[in-house]
Amino acid sequence: MKSGVTKEQLHSLIDEAYAKYKSYNGGKNADYIPYLAKVDSELFGIAACLPDGQIIQVGDCGERFGIESISKVMTAILILKLYGAETILDMIGADATGMPFNSIMAILLEKNHPSTPLVNAGAIAAVSLVQPVGNKELKWKAIVDNMRELCDAPLPLIDELYKSESASNYNNRSIAWLLKHYNRIYDDPELSLDLYTRQCSMGVTARELAICGATIANDGINPVSKKRVFSKALAPKITAMLASVGFYEHTGDWMFTSGLPAKSGVGGGIMGVLPGGFGIATFSPPLDASGNSVKGQKALRYIMQRLDAGIYNSN
Ligand code: GLN
Repeated sequence: MKSGVTKEQLHSLIDEAYAKYKSYNGGKNADYIPYLAKVDSELFGIAACLPDGQIIQVGDCGERFGIESISKVMTAILILKLYGAETILDMIGADATGMPFNSIMAILLEKNHPSTPLVNAGAIAAVSLVQPVGNKELKWKAIVDNMRELCDAPLPLIDELYKSESASNYNNRSIAWLLKHYNRIYDDPELSLDLYTRQCSMGVTARELAICGATIANDGINPVSKKRVFSKALAPKITAMLASVGFYEHTGDWMFTSGLPAKSGVGGGIMGVLPGGFGIATFSPPLDASGNSVKGQKALRYIMQRLDAGIYNSN
């Protein structure tokens, strides 16, 4: 591996981190989406995918949970493929907002200034850009097909989560219409909101997220299917987005302590990308106040600090 990390080294660190944090109690399941509050808080898994497609997994890596905000990374990849990096920088942007993922304030402050596809406003705008604009069914197919190629697995919709989230997403509805007010949404706001809610309600496993992370780490070639999913030139753009806003207002602290570009979701997942190295994912539902999995952060930090191979290291 380019990072100099061996499979054995990574495997034993994953085992150690799992054993060390398995019984850790901290954080709380998301409850603003009723479905998520009911998920078993004890579930815990860590998976990694190496550039040759080998998978390391410990714990509940086959458990399906709500992908939530990690889907933002996948749809960001889709629109980068459709429009190219320059156009996406112009139409949405790549700046961290420094605010919570669902911040309305961030939109008000940046009304003439782009944000990022990795927070709710930019993600709803990203969904609006998926082609063919105006055709809900074909847009949804494009989103789902892209997820399947990235994860090398067909992700199912968790219908109960979709219903639960659709019945409680008033804040996101405000975001969609505020974007319309500022001409920063490029399809019908209700259509875009619904597809965004649906993509967040897809069920994924830690194993599948590790494969998606490894596809980004491997410059766009899925190491399991061996298929090219996106061009090599897009990989550093996606990693830059992860490193600047993947953990929202706590991304700086996260990068400072882990060196691992990663994206969290309120379903309890985290997907990490070590370019040229591996994809790594954790699943544990209890979250901190910013919506990032507490156990997942502890485990990944433990692994990355011992590997000493974060993206800011020179080795
Ligand atoms: N669907 C969730 C929302 O829009 C995703 C948030 C998250 O995972 N941070 O609120």
